[in-house]
Amino acid sequence: MAQEKHIVVCGGGIVGLCTAHYLAREGFAVTVVERNAEGADSCAQGSAGYVSPSHVEPISAPGMVWQGLKWMLSSRSPFYVQPRLDPALLRWGWLFARHCTPEHRLRAAPVLAQHCLESRRLFAELAEKTGNSFEFQQQGLFNLCKTPESVAKYERGLAALANSVGVEAKILTPKQVAELEPGARMDIAGAVYFPIDAHISPRKFMPALVALLKQQRVKFHWGTSVLGWRSEGGRVTGLATSAGEIVADEYVLATGSWASDTLRGLGLGLPMQAGKGYSLTIERPRFRLKKPMILSERRVAVTPMGDTLRFGGTMEISGHSDNGRPERIEQIVAAAQFYFPDMRPEDFAGIKPWFGYRPVSPDGMPYIGRFARQANLTAACGHAMLGITLAPVTGRVVAELLTGRKPSVDLSLMSPDRFA
Ligand SMILES: Cc1cc2nc3c(=O)[nH]c(=O)nc-3n(C[C@H](O)[C@H](O)[C@H](O)COP(=O)(O)OP(=O)(O)OC[C@H]3O[C@@H](n4cnc5c(N)ncnc54)[C@H](O)[C@@H]3O)c2cc1C
Repeated sequence: MAQEKHIVVCGGGIVGLCTAHYLAREGFAVTVVERNAEGADSCAQGSAGYVSPSHVEPISAPGMVWQGLKWMLSSRSPFYVQPRLDPALLRWGWLFARHCTPEHRLRAAPVLAQHCLESRRLFAELAEKTGNSFEFQQQGLFNLCKTPESVAKYERGLAALANSVGVEAKILTPKQVAELEPGARMDIAGAVYFPIDAHISPRKFMPALVALLKQQRVKFHWGTSVLGWRSEGGRVTGLATSAGEIVADEYVLATGSWASDTLRGLGLGLPMQAGKGYSLTIERPRFRLKKPMILSERRVAVTPMGDTLRFGGTMEISGHSDNGRPERIEQIVAAAQFYFPDMRPEDFAGIKPWFGYRPVSPDGMPYIGRFARQANLTAACGHAMLGITLAPVTGRVVAELLTGRKPSVDLSLMSPDRFA
């Protein structure tokens, strides 16, 4: 159990913190380097909080190229790529298009299902260990559909795929949905229901995790930026930070959508785009929902979190631009009214919109594993829409890799060198 090695985790988002937890559990001496202050915002905090085995389809799904091109014409669409002449974006787009195939979908689904189901189990374990202060709940998840055509499309598509890889999906009528979720009147044609899905309150999960890491004697360098690397003979020999150099035996890259920038100077490429998403949290909702739901045609996620109700969505590939687009927020509000006829714009009055950057790889699969050309550097990033769901299993498998054990989950599609 006792390990001598010192490991530095770069990035203190949900993936970095979960990785630090499993590394410390193995007995490693762990240091987290995070440029923000303790408790500051990160992509997890405003997310929908889904722990969702239902998400077995990678974002680069068949049909997404045409759908994406159509959506690109409107900055109000759920998926928007801001056209710009950036070689990294062009390469990412080309790789994305190459992966929007039925073959990639079929290869990715069982792997994603395996990771998601295992991670869900690890969340339950963490909840038990920490007193569940972060409200982990298995309430399932609905994909609400407005039209019978949409129900049929989901039945043939996502529901069939999920069932084929061991994630139960049921088609429900509006009456069955209302029986399971009597909290609000819905104007829908039906839904897909995934009973296994769960959710958490991420704003409560992050401090719970930091408290756990402190008990595990993990060292933190908050307010410290990774600036560069020293490397020799195919190994990292030092990490340059704004607080001076840190030397360790192993290094983990968990800087989310900034991961490719963090690697600069090491000669390693990691195609990544920031996928901006927004959320609005109603503090005192008039509707009390129990179950999370996706407003499918509008790609908006709805999550009851404690006494609050969160609406989140949109995927905007527009770089790390720190200005929000009001039309995106309007789309979320409009979608809420479209599916819940009793909702009104006043329900959202005065709410400050949140936004964060998902780390999006071009094939919708995370980067997990050692880099071939820097033997003591391990990637743990690129989880796109699944960073909450997959954070625990990612942390645990990184710990397995660094102890030299055989990974307990399939990493064959996740190599950080796959686009090198
Ligand atoms: C609207 C929305 C809803 C979402 N809903 C869900 C959901 O329901 N379920 C789900 O599974 N996922 C969801 N996601 C996705 C999920 O939130 C992300 O995948 C996840 O939070 C990414 O975590 P991360 O730790 O990889 O990255 P981040 O949270 O971005 O963390 C990376 C950290 O690295 C730090 N960093 C970066 N560069 C440096 C540097 N040079 N030096 C030091 N530190 C650095 C950053 O400050 C940051 O804290 C959602 C995302 C959005 C936007």
